[in-house]
Amino acid sequence: MSETLLKVENLKTHFPVKGGVFRSVKRYVKAVDDVSFEVAEGKTFGLVGESGCGKTTLGRSVLQLIPPTSGKVFFEGEQIVGKSRNELLPIRRNMQIIFQDPYASLNPRMTILEAIQEPMLIHRIGSANERHDRVVELLELVGLRRNILNRYPHEFSGGQRQRIGVARALAVNPRFIVADEPVSALDVSVQSQVLNLISDLQQKLGLAFLFISHDLAVVQHVSHEVGVMYLGKIVERASVEEIYQNPKHPYTQALLSAIPSPEVGASKNRIFLPGDVPSPMSPPGGCPFHPRCPVAEDRCRSVIPETVNLKSAADGHWVSCHLYPSKD
Ligand code: SF4
Repeated sequence: MSETLLKVENLKTHFPVKGGVFRSVKRYVKAVDDVSFEVAEGKTFGLVGESGCGKTTLGRSVLQLIPPTSGKVFFEGEQIVGKSRNELLPIRRNMQIIFQDPYASLNPRMTILEAIQEPMLIHRIGSANERHDRVVELLELVGLRRNILNRYPHEFSGGQRQRIGVARALAVNPRFIVADEPVSALDVSVQSQVLNLISDLQQKLGLAFLFISHDLAVVQHVSHEVGVMYLGKIVERASVEEIYQNPKHPYTQALLSAIPSPEVGASKNRIFLPGDVPSPMSPPGGCPFHPRCPVAEDRCRSVIPETVNLKSAADGHWVSCHLYPSKD
């Protein structure tokens, strides 16, 4: 079994909302609210949920790009929440990010050589010649030719730009990458190429990923473990097989019921959820899913469900729902 590389414990990221004449803090947006999970070395933890559920904030909070309000993040056993910029610099070398929109994340005035070697400059890695050679090596690794070094991002297609984004994330040889909706801005025909590239690189380089997506089919394709997020909380977490074959939380069941089946003539009982995800500024009391839950009970409106492990600790299936009471 793989060692734990990243461990997140009770992480909260709340944003103050100011109002009134004196611009005082009126309330908080609980974008990430008491989230715990682990990512093993060389494995992918898929994070899935509707847009606005807090996935992107969680990814950035793990990397300390957004400072969490409370909780702990252990990377290679070291607790990193609250560390200064200087203290984080050597740790950041091992924790990189691939963004959703490769065009927005690449500086249009930088050549491909400059864009990919920039992280090496920040971390003071290698001489100019060594950085040049490394960029050529990275381009080959992501399936691009070396003759694009002096060209600019606008000269490439979306899929090629995302390959450049992947090369940039790999430049400093990280162990862990947050991939934030890395294929959702791409044409469907290109998505699978980039997903296969990410899987191949994981095998070759032993990388661990936090893979964020609203698309359950994409998450199933790349993940070893999956967390389902709703209104800032992970409501269900288990191995990919367990989540997709034996979903327990009513929200997970509804999301999965919406995936089209590839089998001809296959029919599914689609579960339609009423309404949209409520505002994280004023989340519902009790179970936050209760206004949309098809099987909500009275207690769901007032009592927050505990997170229960339905299996053994080593092979966990965690769910936060009153339908699955604690065994204590
Ligand atoms: Fe539905 Fe209640 Fe379970 Fe929440 S706790 S998911 S409202 S049954």
